This record gives sequence, structure tokens and C-alpha cells, in this order.
Amino acid sequence: MSKVVYPGSFNPITHGHANLVERALYLFDQVIVGIGTSVDKEPDEYLSERIDLCRLALGEFGDRVVVKGFNGLLVNFVRSNNTRFILRGLRTLTDYDYEFQMLEMNRHLDPEIEYVLLPTASQWSFLSSTRVREIASLGGDVTAFVHPAVAAHLAKLYGPKN
Ligand code: ADP
Repeated sequence: MSKVVYPGSFNPITHGHANLVERALYLFDQVIVGIGTSVDKEPDEYLSERIDLCRLALGEFGDRVVVKGFNGLLVNFVRSNNTRFILRGLRTLTDYDYEFQMLEMNRHLDPEIEYVLLPTASQWSFLSSTRVREIASLGGDVTAFVHPAVAAHLAKLYGPKN
């Protein structure tokens, strides 16, 4: 079975991420979404929230998509999933610069690692988790960009406190 690891923060998962997963399923039998914990160690509950939301948002793909949290080196996580392929998305030249730095670093750590870089769908080229969090925190409507469960989560997070 061919597998690819799609690592990221997914904070939160958006339709841009889901579109990339959907298209990667034409290339691989299984996509393993790996949600990384930050180096500055965030509380575990945030990670498990992001895992739950990713599972909901990607539920339509069934068991061809697996969502896992990981810490430590990405190359080790990739190897522990019995693959050497990493999937990332490219939206802008800034993404390109960033991805190439990461790619070279990971190649250094494990020369057999291979990157699969998919261009964003035009429709989602402007979409990022940062923008979604920003809009939601200012009370804006993000339902066009994220799964309903994610929109509800953000509304609860940033909505009026009682
Ligand atoms: P990270 O913090 O590791 O960049 P993100 O969750 O922001 O994590 O992004 C994970 C991957 O998904 C990155 O490769 C990013 O370029 C890609 N991505 C994010 N949003 C989109 C989008 N709208 N279209 C295509 N790829 C995207």
C-alpha cells in the first residue's frame, strides 16, 4: 500500500488542506495526516482538539485518511509510518522558500526522504489557518473556509464568554 505523510499544524484544518488530501488520494492509497506539536510544547488538549477536528473534517475519505499527532523529528515520524514520502502544499513564493528550506534540512537528516509538493487549488490559494483564526477572532464568518465542526469550535473559542 502506498502512503504519504501530510504534516502540519492544522490550526485549524481548512478546505485548502482537505482539497490537498483529496488530490493526494489520486496518487497514494493512504494519506497520514501528522499533526505536529510545537517546539515550545503546547498543552496536549490543544493537540487532541486539532486531531478530533481533522478527523471530522476528513471523515468523508474513510480509512484512506488517518490522522495522528506526533512530536519529535518529522523524518522519524515518516519512517515509523513505513513510508518515505512527505506531502506539502504550495500557495505562494513564500511557501516555496519555506518548503525548500525544510526539504533540504529533511534530506540532510534522511537522504531517502522524498517530497511531493502539490500546488494549491486556485479556489483556496488565499486561504490559510492564520487568516481563518484572525477572522474568527474578530467575529467574522468563516463557514466558507472550514468544515462546520471547525466553524462551531472557533465560534465557541472566540465567541462571547458567559
Ligand atoms: P505548517 O505550520 O506546518 O505550515 P499548516 O497547517 O499551516 O502547517 O500547513 C500545512 C501544509 O498545508 C503546508 O504545506 C501548507 O502550505 C499547506 N496548506 C495550507 N493551506 C493550504 C491551501 N489553502 N492550499 C494548499 N495548501 C495549503
